[in-house]
Amino acid sequence: MPTEIKPDVQPETPQSRAAVRAATRDAIIKSAPRLHPVIKYPHPTLLRPGEPVTEFTPELAQFVEEMFDSMYAAEGIGLAAPQIDVSKQIAVIDISFHEQPEDKLILINPVVIGRSGKQFEEEGCLSLPEIREKVHRDAWVKVRAQNVKGEFFEVEGTELLARAMLHEIDHLHGILFIDRLSRLKRDLALRRIRKLQKNGDW
Ligand SMILES: [Zn+2]
Repeated sequence: MPTEIKPDVQPETPQSRAAVRAATRDAIIKSAPRLHPVIKYPHPTLLRPGEPVTEFTPELAQFVEEMFDSMYAAEGIGLAAPQIDVSKQIAVIDISFHEQPEDKLILINPVVIGRSGKQFEEEGCLSLPEIREKVHRDAWVKVRAQNVKGEFFEVEGTELLARAMLHEIDHLHGILFIDRLSRLKRDLALRRIRKLQKNGDW
């Protein structure tokens, strides 16, 4: 395969990326004032819809920062409040994992207002560790949400960002990515989870 990497640029390998992420994770764990542990399937909070946010207080803004820290500490690129046992319609996403500040996205009370196309890519979930499967999603989505001040905004995304937004918005409605698999694939995933639970690895 021809390579066009400039001599002064190191090719990015999965190993170097993992190392950068691990270093970021460790730095966050050290410095974050408050981290929330991520709960796992089948915790009931994951299986019910979150409550809409109605009060936009400084405490909410603080909580959102704690959500980002908790997400980085768990090495995730998205986290929904129900995953830390808070049944509210709040999700945070950062598909660059702390590398590009402009990628930090806060979705409060989000609603999908536009969608088109199809994609079929692999997903994982902090609440379903070790389970990875390809999921059918829209290729492009437009989402309307509120920020920490309660102001409405719209955000569009394709590829990974579209998948992340749809995955997190699902969490706010009590839906997990395994719920979007075929019956067979879902049963296999549930069997695998039961086995992990039995072995004390869940
Ligand atoms: Zn998830």
